[in-house]
Amino acid sequence: MEKILIVDDSTVQAAQLKSILDADYDITIAQTAEKGLSYASSEDYSLILLDVVMPGMDGFMLLKRLQEEIITRSIPVILITSLSDIENEQRGFTLGAVDYIAKPFHPIIVQARVNTHVKLYKYRKQVEQQSVTDQLTGIANRRQYERYSKSKWDEITRLHLPFSICMFDIDYFKVYNDTFGHPAGDKVITTVAGTLSANLQRATDFVARYGGEEFIAILVGDEAKDVFRHVKHIKQKIENLHIPHNPSVSKWVTVSAGGVTVVPKKDDQYHTYLKIADTMLYDAKRYGRNQVVWFGDDMKQWR
Ligand code: GH3
Ligand code: MG
Ligand code: MG
Repeated sequence: MEKILIVDDSTVQAAQLKSILDADYDITIAQTAEKGLSYASSEDYSLILLDVVMPGMDGFMLLKRLQEEIITRSIPVILITSLSDIENEQRGFTLGAVDYIAKPFHPIIVQARVNTHVKLYKYRKQVEQQSVTDQLTGIANRRQYERYSKSKWDEITRLHLPFSICMFDIDYFKVYNDTFGHPAGDKVITTVAGTLSANLQRATDFVARYGGEEFIAILVGDEAKDVFRHVKHIKQKIENLHIPHNPSVSKWVTVSAGGVTVVPKKDDQYHTYLKIADTMLYDAKRYGRNQVVWFGDDMKQWR
């Protein structure tokens, strides 16, 4: 059930709205704008019904605050008002409200407007989600990676924390496709993606499908030796899945990985380190595959 937040100082009015929507939605009531703001930023609401006239912080002020916060900005807000003059309506729309409901309430109109905006919101969320997800594997796609890496790099540069980039590539995958067929290859890509994301689960971990059978991970906060050890562990987990490969190249499906850890300084460029990770991956292939090569913080190559 979708969640709706009603922010209204009048208990009678809030109860009335709740009774109109209760059958179809999970309703929360906040009696002050302050409470409304704190609920809105801590729970996932699909819509907010907001009373304009309230003592203290009024509906317009709350609307402005909601629009300023990244996590509440996209929640549609319908204003409840008896101030049916044009100026107030204009002010509400300018501040970002999606609609108005005028008092006294007509249940069918309230339901219709609420249903419409909840439906639109869900649809928008779904499209947003799809646009950042790789269709085959369900993990983040290249577009999401581009966005994430850029903003994370800037953030970590300011914080002076270690930033790791790791590229993974499935070994002899062309042979796999040629031997077992493309659909079987797709399954392997999905399984490998699942293993990578299951082992990169922390809030500070990120993994995306970079290209065909290549993946990229970004990890922040951990030192080079710890990330190197973790990536070796992941590489081993993939081999331990024991997915049979063409025996002429390898017993099981394996991956090679290359990475680098850096505490970025102000003038450092992300692509410099991406290039290093790519070179490490290339070396992992060159050294015989199924291994991790890291550019260590002692400027030496770790294997
Ligand atoms: P290496 O060990 O050096 O990485 O060799 P490789 O054969 O894995 O590398 P190469 O880059 O030559 O081939 C990658 C193969 O991955 C070729 C391509 O057909 C296959 N591939 C890319 N995307 C997909 C996909 O979405 N599904 C499937 N099944 N195969 C894909
Ligand atoms: Mg490749
Ligand atoms: Mg490959």
